[in-house]
Formats: sequence, C-alpha cells, structure tokens
Amino acid sequence: MSKVKSSETVKVVVRCRPLNRKEAAGVTGTPGGKGGIVEMDVHRGQVVLRNPRALPSEPQKTFTFDSVYDASSKQRDLYDETVRPLIHSVLDGFNGTIFAYGQTGTGKTYTMQGAWLEPERRGVIPNAFEHVFTQISRSAADRQYLVRASYLEIYREEIRDLLDPNVHAPHVPNVHTQPPHTLELRESPESGVYVRDLTSCVCKSVKEIEELMNVGNQVRSVGATDMNEHSSRSHTLFLITVECSQTGPDGRQHIRVGRLNLVDLAGSERQAKTGVHGERLKEAAKINLSLSALGNVISALADGRSGHVPYRDSKLTRLLQDSLGGNAKTVMVATLGPAPQHYEETLTTLRYANRAK
Ligand code: ADP
Ligand code: MG
Repeated sequence: MSKVKSSETVKVVVRCRPLNRKEAAGVTGTPGGKGGIVEMDVHRGQVVLRNPRALPSEPQKTFTFDSVYDASSKQRDLYDETVRPLIHSVLDGFNGTIFAYGQTGTGKTYTMQGAWLEPERRGVIPNAFEHVFTQISRSAADRQYLVRASYLEIYREEIRDLLDPNVHAPHVPNVHTQPPHTLELRESPESGVYVRDLTSCVCKSVKEIEELMNVGNQVRSVGATDMNEHSSRSHTLFLITVECSQTGPDGRQHIRVGRLNLVDLAGSERQAKTGVHGERLKEAAKINLSLSALGNVISALADGRSGHVPYRDSKLTRLLQDSLGGNAKTVMVATLGPAPQHYEETLTTLRYANRAK
C-alpha cells in the first residue's frame, strides 16, 4: 500500500502568544517586550526556536507547518484560513475536529473561546457557532437543518457530562455540589462509538448554543477544589451535530449528518515526577496517556498508516474515532509561549506538532 500523506485530512498550525507583562520584565536587554525565544516566518510557515542556553555557534531549531500564527495574529485570521473550510465540510455532512494543544498558559482557551464579548477577540468556538447558524439561515428553502450540542470533559480518563441536568450551576439555588456522573463509552454498528446517556440539546440559534456552553462551563467547576488546576488537567469537548435533510430529485428524503468536535486539551506540560504521590501521580499518568495516544493516532493518520491507528488506547481517541481519519478533517492548533524559561516545554510542543503533520 502506498503511503499518501494526507495533508488534506490533518492540518497542523502553530500559534505563539505575546510575552506577557511579567515575562517581558524578566527578559533583559530586550526593549519593547520583544526577545522571546520563538520567531516565526508566517510566509513560509516556519518556527525558529532559540535555545537560551545554547552557544551562539549552535544551530537553531526550525520547524515547518501548514501555517504559523505569531504574537500579532488575529483570531479572525486563524478562523478564516484554518477553521472555516472545516466548518464547511461539517455542513456538507462530514466530521471535523479542532484541537488546541499546548502547555498551560500558552493560549489554548484563548484560541478556542477567547473573549466572547469582544468581537476582535472572539475565538474559534463563538466564530464557529455564528458561522453554522448563518450558513443555515442562508441555505436553500428545501433544506431542513437540525443542530444538536453536547458538552463533556474527560478528567482522569473519566467522561463527565457538562450538561447533566442533575447538576446545577453554582449560582442556582439548591446547589448540588456533586460533580456530574461519569459516563461510559459504547459502540454500535449504527452509531459507531458514542457516550451512553450523554445529554444532547437541540439548538435553534447562536444564543441558545452559547447559553449551553455557559451552563457547561459552570457545571465544570462543580466539585473542583482548584479550578485552575482542574482546567489544566482535563480535556473539554464541545460536540455539535448538524443534520441536514433535503428532498432529492427522486422525491425522497436524504439525510446527511456532520459532526464537529471542538476540543480544548489538558495542558501538555510534563507532570512533575518528584513530590507527586498517590492520586496525583495516577492522574498525571492518565493525562499523559490521552495526549500521547492522540499524538500516536494523528501521526498514524498523517503518515497514511490508517491500517493500524491505535484509537483504543485512550478515552479521548476512542470517543473521537469516527471523526479522525477517513473522510474527516482535523485541525491541530499547537500553542506556544515565547518566554525563555519554557524552552524545554516549547520544544516538546513543537516536536509533538511536527509528528502530527
Ligand atoms: P491555556 O488555556 O493554554 O492555559 P489561556 O488561553 O488561558 O492558556 O491563556 C493564558 C493567558 O494568555 C490569558 O490571559 C490569555 O488571555 C493570554 N493569551 C493567550 N493567547 C493570547 C494571544 N494570542 N494574544 C493575546 N493574549 C493571549
Ligand atoms: Mg485553558
């Protein structure tokens, strides 16, 4: 079997956030907040990483991707160039997945969600919501669309329903402080891999789907003692199913179903091995398990080795099995920070992303 590199199927882009104020103050001799260790050539799609401890004679590391987005990149540009085509294919009945991968604090959530109320800073998810409903409102009159959404997280290899109707958001009276129940993965010939009993809500407008996301974000914090800690250790998946029915020339109803998975992954930083015991150590191992399984799956797909794609190695890859490979499209946005003290983690992220191409 010939190996066809399926750049159509898996697209890998890298984005670097600006130095923040604290980091800029720590970088000496570098006026104007410049002086990070990441340089990008947006025309060539290249990232150059400088090792702050290397001798000047040592070569810098250069990586090439489908696109790169530097510190001045706009949310809208990333959306239009990288995400928009994928949303189109979901509306045409294909499956698509967008992942944000990177160390905690590098801009995964900024890229996926951004600031909802500021048009310039709205991320992939609000732009995708807008796009889906705009396309639907402009579609031909003989097409009927049904949009459904689910929201879940994977925490310690357990699946939690963030729209679980039995868990109330913290601001609601009669607070339930119990986190949502954990759900099981099932597989059937008709539906493929699915989460049993996962809440799925019909959405008729951008407003409705945004409201669901709000509810889910609040449920997410229920039972978490430290929300920052929790959000850096769990994967969140917002799933949208778009069903389109149309009467064909033969007078019969044709139904196409596309699924969109919007995934904000757990922080990719290596979990400390010293000083971590018991539950924490188990948790660390599980986070790394899903991320390394995902890396293996995407790299197998990108190589065209679709014969042996190791989907079954983690909850994340099993759950997304039907949306990775085949006719499905995948976008991986790897996020980086430019600060010298994160050189090692940044290199690890670039290597991970490089393997996924
Ligand atoms: P992560 O989800 O990877 O932990 P966040 O998205 O929370 O990281 O980003 C960390 C901080 O950096 C936030 O304050 C966020 O607003 C800021 N930030 C991230 N990416 C960018 C960017 N591209 N431009 C401006 N600020 C950013
Ligand atoms: Mg985050």
